[in-house]
Amino acid sequence: MAFTYGQLVSGGVGKQLATTLGLPRPARLRRHQLGGSLVPGAVLVAGHGDAPVAERVRHLLEDAGVQVASLPSTSVVGVVLDLTAIETPADLETLRSVLGPALRTLAPTGRVIVVGRPPEGTGSVSQAAARRSLEGVVRSVGKEMRAGGTANLVLVDDGADAGVDATVRFLLSGRSAYVSGQVFHVGRPVGELVAPADWDQPLAGKVAVVTGAARGIGAAIADTLARDGATIIAVDVPAAGGPLAEVANRLSGTALQLDVTAEDAGARIVEHAQARHGGFDIVVHNAGITRDKLLANTDADRWDAVLQVNLLSILRMNEALVPAIREGGHIVHISSIAGIAGNRGQSHYAASKAGVIGMTQALAADDAVLAKGITVNAVAPGFIETEMTAAVPFATREIGRLTNSLSQGGQPVDVAETIGYFAWDANRAVTGNVVRVCGQMLLGA
Ligand code: NAD
Repeated sequence: MAFTYGQLVSGGVGKQLATTLGLPRPARLRRHQLGGSLVPGAVLVAGHGDAPVAERVRHLLEDAGVQVASLPSTSVVGVVLDLTAIETPADLETLRSVLGPALRTLAPTGRVIVVGRPPEGTGSVSQAAARRSLEGVVRSVGKEMRAGGTANLVLVDDGADAGVDATVRFLLSGRSAYVSGQVFHVGRPVGELVAPADWDQPLAGKVAVVTGAARGIGAAIADTLARDGATIIAVDVPAAGGPLAEVANRLSGTALQLDVTAEDAGARIVEHAQARHGGFDIVVHNAGITRDKLLANTDADRWDAVLQVNLLSILRMNEALVPAIREGGHIVHISSIAGIAGNRGQSHYAASKAGVIGMTQALAADDAVLAKGITVNAVAPGFIETEMTAAVPFATREIGRLTNSLSQGGQPVDVAETIGYFAWDANRAVTGNVVRVCGQMLLGA
């Protein structure tokens, strides 16, 4: 088996060499464990002015049995900084004076969460500037984090503070191990915010459809949603029938052999879900293909195949799925970093994955979707270790692995965890979001 760069620098001579030369050494990330605590230590919670979100977060942490530290703090595993009340760029001094010292003592795999308000939500030019500054700072802090730490920004609309809890919980937890340098938007909830009876089973009683579930990221999504309490309808092409049945049987779910590009794919999913499970609450459109070629060499068939599987089939299926999904349901699409930054040899793939972002934002704001209290979000994975990326040539693969703030590829479970978070009923205040699960890849925005 070929050695990866990460394995090479994890011990012995390779480790010494990496230290001497100042090369990146990927840290072991803190991932979610059943029955584990939300965070393995104290969290510093601070804010500027009256800081209403900080107050909420203190209560949330106390309820979760987490020790809350105040200033001046010594060693903490996380920092939540409420800057919703900043008015001018001069107020950013609060960020420097709190976060700077805290970063010096932050424990490995630490979490930084800055909470602000969207720049668009103010009539003051100075306040808009200050609010937008937060994005620049947090993306920079993400790049300065050490030892597997992450930094993210949460923008909360005025009057929507109650919706912030789910996102703060997700970002502090091991579920967000490979999510860094991201901006989350929390708005007014599209339905009732319902916290689960048990945070280890946030999807208890839910039925989830996962396409492309026979392998790779799709199989991990099925595993993760099932771990969190959902019953799985695993969908994949008939040619993948064997591994598909294994996934469904392992999780006590059901398998549906289906090519998602079929005209009646949506209707067949609805029929299966109603006949076998009495309905469905969550849909994850994960099935996807790559057929890499420079645009100059891409013929119509290759172009159409990628667009059909990755975008057109989803548009068609959603026409049947939206009317049938239960009220308060959740739809999650899979985009890609290529849909944001573009990628050589992937103009058709990037077209499909950028299209997924447009579709996500428009569907989230659609009247029929809002009337049913459905959330629609997208995950944009960066470099994830799957058969799809194992097929990439060695040098390109190692560059993909290393060119992110965490200096490693993500695991399929990392994508799955973010999808799970989008599917929580406690998370009905997050819709129309596109979150990159990319370890803060250096490509794109
Ligand atoms: P994969 O090739 O390992 O698995 C894709 C699955 O989708 C397969 O089981 C395949 O049989 C199924 N599928 C393909 N066409 C289908 C069709 N017409 N109908 C039903 N099922 C079909 O891929 P993966 O790496 O697990 O990727 C999953 C998703 O994540 C895709 O949408 C992909 O574009 C996206 N993605 C992956 C990465 C990565 O680094 N692996 C990065 C960004 C985005």
